[in-house]
Amino acid sequence: MSLKTIMSRYEKYVIPCYNKVPVAFKRGRGTTLWDESGHAYLDFFSGWAVSSIGHCHPLVAKAIRDQASRLVHVPNNFYHDDQGRLAETIVRHAFPGKVFFCNSGAEAVEGAIKLARFYGYPKRTEIITMKGSFHGRTAGAMSATGQPKFHQGIKPLLGGFKRIAFNDLKALKKAITSKTVAVLLELIQGEGGVRVADAQYVKALRKICNDRGILLIVDEVQTGVGRTGKMFCYQHYGIRPDVMLLAKSLGNGFPIGAIVASQKLSKVLKPGTHATTFGGSPLACAASLAVFQAIKKERLLERAQSLSRYLMKALNDLKKKHSVVREVRGKGLLAALELKVPGKPVVDYCLKHFILINVTQNRVLRFAPPMIIRKQEIDRVLGVLDKALLRL
Ligand code: PLP
Repeated sequence: MSLKTIMSRYEKYVIPCYNKVPVAFKRGRGTTLWDESGHAYLDFFSGWAVSSIGHCHPLVAKAIRDQASRLVHVPNNFYHDDQGRLAETIVRHAFPGKVFFCNSGAEAVEGAIKLARFYGYPKRTEIITMKGSFHGRTAGAMSATGQPKFHQGIKPLLGGFKRIAFNDLKALKKAITSKTVAVLLELIQGEGGVRVADAQYVKALRKICNDRGILLIVDEVQTGVGRTGKMFCYQHYGIRPDVMLLAKSLGNGFPIGAIVASQKLSKVLKPGTHATTFGGSPLACAASLAVFQAIKKERLLERAQSLSRYLMKALNDLKKKHSVVREVRGKGLLAALELKVPGKPVVDYCLKHFILINVTQNRVLRFAPPMIIRKQEIDRVLGVLDKALLRL
């Protein structure tokens, strides 16, 4: 089918929530996506940090295929073997506790908001979140999100959130009251411009939460499952959260989200307090188990760490060469170049050269290549970026 036909049918029948790029993809494998005319694109953003072990990874594809012909769905009032296996796998990689499965990042955030409210109810119901954060597009997650641009037109927001400056301990101390039940934190604000939480800040924040009986909820929807070179980003900080939220890479493209609650909190949600029809289906769990299997078998965490050193050095070299670059940021394979000017022309230039990257906050070029990327592919992207930056 021609691109024109695909686009016109979309325009006629699909609600236009997205600013679209005029490319239609047909096939993906590893680091590459092919459009309907056969052009190959190097995916340096993993579809919004989702396909972190590469498109159509053979182990994940096989797991989905096999499971699809056995059993796709059972309601959550029955058992199936993979949900417990996946929960066990996640807990073993994270901390002692239990998991609730859902279908997306925003849904994990919504569930965590409820968990915190149940935990503190009725006296402590307030949740502190960070300016510049992003937690998803549902009403509660948007209310938690600390960016006014997302609040326009949807007010009144869900109450009970205090949005404070990120990486600012004084602001945190000032915001805490006897009503505070939880702090919701992205350790790297992805959509907010790949802003990394300071190590000292996170350690001190953890201590304050401990001292005051406040829950620390880390939103690892973008950073979780290997993206930063550790299985979970909090593991860079030598702390342990009370609750961790996952989605995106958890299914490498198959929709699945998770709320991971520490032992102490694993009894807060009880039968009748929270539910979802599709969460943790046999198909989703099979896909996600294959993701963990692939990460282990192919030693992808180690690979992400060494590629990260290579990428960060190269990005710093670009910064030295181009005065238009303000800063290099990131951890693992979630990286960014903040520019002094808008970044869209760079994204467009890369697209013209069949490379997919992203711009966020207008001036921040965001990169999230799959963990299977090769050094030659990184070099190719850097060569194109070099030329694009010269043109600014
Ligand atoms: N939390 C974070 C940190 C995210 O980056 C996102 C999405 O980008 C979400 C939550 C929402 O996830 P989803 O789009 O799966 O609802």
